[in-house]
Amino acid sequence: MNNRKVARRTFLRTSLVAATALPLGAIPLTLKAGEHVDEADPAASALGYRHDTAAVDGAKFPQHAPDQVCDNCQLFQGADAEGWGGCAIFPGKQVNAKGWCSAWVKKAG
Ligand code: SF4
Repeated sequence: MNNRKVARRTFLRTSLVAATALPLGAIPLTLKAGEHVDEADPAASALGYRHDTAAVDGAKFPQHAPDQVCDNCQLFQGADAEGWGGCAIFPGKQVNAKGWCSAWVKKAG
């Protein structure tokens, strides 16, 4: 075995040991779940986003129907165990599965 192969093996072995030795706290924050969308955020407010579809202002958003929720919206990316999940409209944030905004699109299927 030549020196190059030995060096490569040593590097791979060292990298594997280092990776398995990382404490959980060293995992980048970007891998953790996003924060919840703030209803008062200008973008969320402009779209009428509410964490609870029952709280939508029907006068301001007459297209809203009570059975429309993030969970049955095409743009919802699936809820976690607590009922929150990603949405294509709010990248990096989470919306409530029972929420709604005026970008709601009926989920296909
Ligand atoms: S686009 Fe759909 S999933 Fe996203 S906040 Fe609006 S209703 Fe909810």
